[in-house]
Amino acid sequence: MLRLPDAAASRNEIALTFDDGPDPDVTPKVLDILDSHHAKASFFVIGDKAAAHPELVREIVRRGHSIENHSRGHSNVYGFFAWTALRKDIGAAQDIIAGITGRPPVFFRSPMGIRNPMLDPVIAHLGLRYITWTRRGFDTVAGDPAAVLKRLTHNLSAGDILLLHDRRSRARRAIVLEVLPALLDKIAAAGLKPVSLPSAMR
Ligand SMILES: [Zn+2]
Repeated sequence: MLRLPDAAASRNEIALTFDDGPDPDVTPKVLDILDSHHAKASFFVIGDKAAAHPELVREIVRRGHSIENHSRGHSNVYGFFAWTALRKDIGAAQDIIAGITGRPPVFFRSPMGIRNPMLDPVIAHLGLRYITWTRRGFDTVAGDPAAVLKRLTHNLSAGDILLLHDRRSRARRAIVLEVLPALLDKIAAAGLKPVSLPSAMR
């Protein structure tokens, strides 16, 4: 899926998505900022991190957001996984998340957006839908919050899917926390409503 469905766009909805968590330091702060702006989002968690912080995963759900699948181990050789390895990795993340929340994810996004020729059949086999994004902030590689904000908001429109990360960069900086309040203000000023992916599928 490249954009939200027309029905969601006609309701002025956009999707905020956060990859690579849950992170015990950054994720709770992201949740507080979302709450203060009455915004809902989707968290594409890494299965191993979810298993390490199940209480944080439950807290994300308790606050009205959705948990989706971003692989079990976030391997940087994902593009080379064969069918069995891919099915095992994505299936393990499904099981970990369903075991914590009681709901298996509906959406999958691969590590670093890597495409693998086996991916489509594997996620179809697991009953998942592949999702990309329309805008990414490069919040874990950029050093300038203003540039990240501009990338995410330039010509922002209903149906957009925004990609951010609820973790620190290698430079130990959580740009997402610097950008998110201003981003949510701009979204509200544009008359747009951030919703979780399941809610956008209504
Ligand atoms: Zn990732």
